[in-house]
Amino acid sequence: MIPKAFIDTVLQETDIAELIGRYIDLIERGQGLAGECPFDGGSKPSFTVSPDKQIWKCFNCNKGGNAIKFVIEIEKLSFPDAVRFLAKRLDLEVPEEV
Ligand SMILES: [Zn+2]
Repeated sequence: MIPKAFIDTVLQETDIAELIGRYIDLIERGQGLAGECPFDGGSKPSFTVSPDKQIWKCFNCNKGGNAIKFVIEIEKLSFPDAVRFLAKRLDLEVPEEV
């Protein structure tokens, strides 16, 4: 088990716009960012990122969530592996509770 406090830290430290920007092109739109959804193959910029709230949402396929959810979806990882994936990008060591 990964402690919840560590998961919160990973979410706080992750820049969601930078993370998602490595997978898809994002353009500024209104208060946030938008781009083509990497999950539904649509060609409209239905995919939105809110850096303020650190969340993403697609208005075409209705997928959405935080940075961990994005990694789960795009890298096809389990929840703990997605946390480890993000922690590695941040150079954080994952504390494991047994
Ligand atoms: Zn979508």
